[in-house]
Amino acid sequence: MGQTAVSIGANVFQFFTRNPRGGAAKPLDMLDVGEFESYAAERGIGPILAHAPYTLNAAGAESRVREFAEATMFDDLKRLEATPGAMYNFHPGSHVGQGIEAGITLIADMLNRIAGNLGFAPATTVLLETMAGKGSEVGGRFEELKAIVDCVEMPLGVCLDTCHVWDGGFDIANDLDGVLEEFDSVVGLERLKAVHLNDSLNPLGSRKDRHAKLGKGRIGLEALSRIVNHPLLRDLPFYLETPCDLQGYKEEIALVRSLRGENP
Ligand SMILES: [Zn+2]
Repeated sequence: MGQTAVSIGANVFQFFTRNPRGGAAKPLDMLDVGEFESYAAERGIGPILAHAPYTLNAAGAESRVREFAEATMFDDLKRLEATPGAMYNFHPGSHVGQGIEAGITLIADMLNRIAGNLGFAPATTVLLETMAGKGSEVGGRFEELKAIVDCVEMPLGVCLDTCHVWDGGFDIANDLDGVLEEFDSVVGLERLKAVHLNDSLNPLGSRKDRHAKLGKGRIGLEALSRIVNHPLLRDLPFYLETPCDLQGYKEEIALVRSLRGENP
């Protein structure tokens, strides 16, 4: 994955820890991990961002669903000890009718049990992702993320997904400063550790969560340019989750670099 990243001009990347729809992860090949670590150090790649499976729902109504979420995250965090300094992003969950407060409690309780069962401070920073608020998703409002952060003993960060916040009704195209001020006053900008850089197929506040290629959606290239250049954001790692193939990502990375006035 390190070589693929370099071949398309990337210096960070996100990967799924296992099949995005769930299931067991392949055993870690420590020789591979060691080679990756030295290659990443040599080429200046990182921080890498591991993404939990989409099926992980810490706020599920059924204990089977919650147990899968907990076992998966516990296993992922243990495996990520092999690559210290990585980050681990997950969708907080959907409360499926139990109510937002119950959802927040279930998510926070799971994280606290994982922290307790690990028995050590993870070398990985766990990130809550900002969500579009689709269906019964938890994390569509900054206050919901803050409530989780406040109840959990391990240090948590936040990954801001530009498509999700836009779909959630935060106007990052016309009032980026206002949205960042709100984030700062509710959660605190020191918690913001990563950005998922996506355009959105749908209008502001649509609560849909359909990612578009950069400049091909409703957020638009001018707004995305302000985002990647904003003084409060520009030093964060940006991860693309646009519907592209490898060549498409290469072009988008070159585009982002040109928007930032960097050499490709
Ligand atoms: Zn995302």
